[in-house]
Amino acid sequence: MSLTIKLRYKGITINSDQINNLKADLSQMSSQSSIPWFDDFFGVAYRYFDLRMNVVPLISDRKESASLWHDTIHWWLDPSIKIRFVETGDKYWFIMGADSQKPESNLNFFKVLPKSENYERFKKGHGGEAYLRLGVYTKKSLDEVKKNAICNCGHEAIDHDEGDDDVCLYNDCDCKKFSSFQVNLLKRKKTITDIAFLDEKDVKDDPLAWNCLNVNKYSKSE
Ligand SMILES: [Zn+2]
Ligand SMILES: [Zn+2]
Repeated sequence: MSLTIKLRYKGITINSDQINNLKADLSQMSSQSSIPWFDDFFGVAYRYFDLRMNVVPLISDRKESASLWHDTIHWWLDPSIKIRFVETGDKYWFIMGADSQKPESNLNFFKVLPKSENYERFKKGHGGEAYLRLGVYTKKSLDEVKKNAICNCGHEAIDHDEGDDDVCLYNDCDCKKFSSFQVNLLKRKKTITDIAFLDEKDVKDDPLAWNCLNVNKYSKSE
């Protein structure tokens, strides 16, 4: 992103170092404090697809996913896309942001999520690169799925009572109602090469993660 600095007053001389400092300050400001934080999405899926791990923010509405892509992610400069994971106990913060060619509609994403097997798999296996795609998330009930569809409890649809309340028939399972979801990955993708897992005590050294926790946690905790 290049910034044009216009000097309003004649007679001010400014050397190139000062201009560079000014540019650095301005880009810090624009890339960190003025971008709204967006967490109105369902979660994040981690999938192997096209030989690479995919990080898939899940949006429950197809139109909304299209406009998020058009207005925001489409304008991101791939090398500037950052994702950060900050673990706190059995949860983690998913944090994502980038420099945009259209800064006025830029957004930073965050979501506090429970750690999952897929998350751990991604953490171990991403190899420093991932594709970013959006996914459209649809909930499915027992009568909308095939018999081998997996319920959120981990057991198949066929193991759930087809009577009134869909309970799981496994004795040691306390699932009371079949529920499953389907994720449609959208085709368009971006490449992420800046991925970091951080401890909460280290977020101060990471501008994006620090800004996120500052705005969405520390300033709200009292
Ligand atoms: Zn179940
Ligand atoms: Zn079950």
